[in-house]
Amino acid sequence: MDNGLETRKLEPGMPSGGSPAGARLRAVQARLAQAAAEAGRNAAHIGLLAVSKTFDTAAVRGLAACGQREFGENYLQEALDKQAALRDLPLVWHFIGPIQSNKTRAIAENFSWVHSVDRLKIAERLSAQRPAGLPSLQVCIEVNVSGEASKGGVAPAELPALAEAVAKLPKLRLRGLMAIPAPTSEVAAQRAAFRRVRELFDELRTRGQALDTLSMGMSGDLEAAILEGATIVRVGTALFGERTRHA
Ligand SMILES: *Cc1c(COP(=O)(O)O)cnc(C)c1O
Repeated sequence: MDNGLETRKLEPGMPSGGSPAGARLRAVQARLAQAAAEAGRNAAHIGLLAVSKTFDTAAVRGLAACGQREFGENYLQEALDKQAALRDLPLVWHFIGPIQSNKTRAIAENFSWVHSVDRLKIAERLSAQRPAGLPSLQVCIEVNVSGEASKGGVAPAELPALAEAVAKLPKLRLRGLMAIPAPTSEVAAQRAAFRRVRELFDELRTRGQALDTLSMGMSGDLEAAILEGATIVRVGTALFGERTRHA
């Protein structure tokens, strides 16, 4: 991939030349490529979504200058402010946070993708409020495979009915599933959770749904997710550094 760094001057003190953002991006791309190779998969089929929540527009610009185009945000107002300040860049914005009903219009108007649809009412509002002049909103249904009651995501048992209803909405295009399994440092447990998401995805496809996207894996577990079939990994910390405020 052309990351735009080739013509940059080496700056003293930078880990491997270029900007710190460029070095972090290359490191994440290397992890992604290594995991893809291990899985016998083509790394070009695995998208990298840069999760920029809590990071400022300068940080987004830094990564965009290295060739990153797809950015994910969790908080609507923060996202809208960043989008407004970055209108000059050709970025693609994904909404990945919890969605309240009163936020659907702004989400439908300002994002290309939504990964966190977990109930029909929200999907219906996003479809109804998607402006006529824009292409369909690309959506993933968030599924809760860890059974944590406090977390977002539809229960696996309710997924088939929700997917069928969402797929029928005129201004949405259902692309697949998203999941945020309970964090664990055990690779076997990471893989088991991601495998469950993959199985649910395969079941929907068997039922005739034309899905192509598995949004799973973050800074700490992207390798396990890729080994289980992730097509989009959502990475914040490994690209931007530690978040200093709660997210
Ligand atoms: C914050 C966040 C991420 C990125 O997490 P990191 O551990 O910083 O990579 C990915 N997905 C969602 C939904 C998030 O909220």
